[in-house]
Amino acid sequence: MSEEMLINLVYVASAVMFIFGLKLLGSPDTARRGNFISAVGMLCAVIVTLIDQNIVEYQYIVGGIVAGGLIGALVARMVAMTSMPEMVALFNGFGGLASLLVGWAALAVAMLNASDAAPVPVFMLVTVFLSILIGGLTFTGSLLAYGKLSERISGKPFVYTGQRVVNSLILLAVIVCAGLFVVDPSNQNWLYLAVGLALLLGVSFVLPIGGADMPVVISLLNSFSGIAAASAGFAISNILLIVAGSLVGASGIILTNIMCKAMNRSLSNVLFSGFGAVTKSDGPVIEQGEVKPLTPEDAYYILEAAASVVIIPGYGMAVAQAQHIVKELQEMLEDNGCEVVYAIHPVAGRMPGHMNVLLAEADVPYDQLLEMDQINPRLETFDVAVVIGANDVVNPAAREVESSPIYGMPVINADKARTVFVLKRSMASGFAGIDNPLFFKENTRMIFGDAKETLNNLVKAFD
Ligand code: NDP
Repeated sequence: MSEEMLINLVYVASAVMFIFGLKLLGSPDTARRGNFISAVGMLCAVIVTLIDQNIVEYQYIVGGIVAGGLIGALVARMVAMTSMPEMVALFNGFGGLASLLVGWAALAVAMLNASDAAPVPVFMLVTVFLSILIGGLTFTGSLLAYGKLSERISGKPFVYTGQRVVNSLILLAVIVCAGLFVVDPSNQNWLYLAVGLALLLGVSFVLPIGGADMPVVISLLNSFSGIAAASAGFAISNILLIVAGSLVGASGIILTNIMCKAMNRSLSNVLFSGFGAVTKSDGPVIEQGEVKPLTPEDAYYILEAAASVVIIPGYGMAVAQAQHIVKELQEMLEDNGCEVVYAIHPVAGRMPGHMNVLLAEADVPYDQLLEMDQINPRLETFDVAVVIGANDVVNPAAREVESSPIYGMPVINADKARTVFVLKRSMASGFAGIDNPLFFKENTRMIFGDAKETLNNLVKAFD
């Protein structure tokens, strides 16, 4: 077998590992294995690529691998589960920057070897430009997304009139620079200008988007980083980079689409509407009934008599860091002979899988986490629904109030349970900034206070 054939075979095996790994990532109990298999695939690919390129000096490469590996291991250990979106934002950003640099370096090498008789092929120039444009905007866009999510900069949407026109003009200017550079590659100024404009475009693209919408943007930027990598793969003729980049590009777009659908919003609404800046107080006036507060001590008597309880967590559970105490309550209810399940809305919290990650951290078994479509048909059979810091994802206005901004958004029908406990600190609205008729329903009892504290009191009552 020739060396080239062997290398291609390893590439095919790596690509299969990536795809298989992605498939396993689809379920929480196989996700770790999926991650591991994909990582092994990437390691094999890196090793054969190094062999294939007949590299004579390895010290920089080894130094890079050691430094990168150490930083990665350290960051993975230090970062709290709740800060994962920020970390993903940074990873995407550096992925974009890497594609930009790979494309640029490939171009520099190609231009050194080019002559009048054999100029740099137009295809290569175009792919390099794509990796620079998409990589550059992914880099700065992701840094800004990181800043907004981590609240280092204001998460407020920054909108001004004519914003879309300005963004379109920047994009047009990058394309014009690209065209001029392809026509006359000896004039590097067009290249530098294009890089600068691509970096600017990333900032101006993310500025109008509110902090709470950042997870959607990060998923989109993740997709962009994949497309940038695939373009860089074309530029350096590396098949595996093209495959890996395309997989990231496609899965990022699919995730973005899933999140938009679960919020019943279009991608353009997320990207251009400045949600959060405009919808607060814009919601319809909901007929308010009587709010019926309950103390944790009284709630205990109802829970103690319940045969089935569904726990519906939301963003407030993450804020209160109440996942461990929720698990304790679950165990106490189960010891009492009660069936307990969790109902997970796809956009509960502020990032995809937010609730799954938190509950996994508290060792809640995966088979007790039910998705919205599994739980909704069964909800009326539950004695108690315990809503913990969730608001929008249980808002019946999405079914009942046609003028509501969230009308049509699929929600968990908590109000269908025989009794509903809502654990939150006040009557304040959630992310969408609208009233929630659930709080005024006949079968709802509000248990005001920090979710962790309330749950602590409930657990104490069971002791
Ligand atoms: P919401 O943001 O609708 O509501 C969270 C509730 O938690 C608030 O009403 C708040 O009420 C309460 N809360 C906050 N802190 C505490 C605390 N310490 N103890 C008890 N309660 C607390 O959350 P949901 O999970 O229901 O909905 C998620 C929203 O985020 C949706 O609108 C979704 O579209 C959006 N979103 C989700 C994304 C994702 O990927 N998951 C991405 C982008 C947006 P109070 O202040 O009274 O305590």
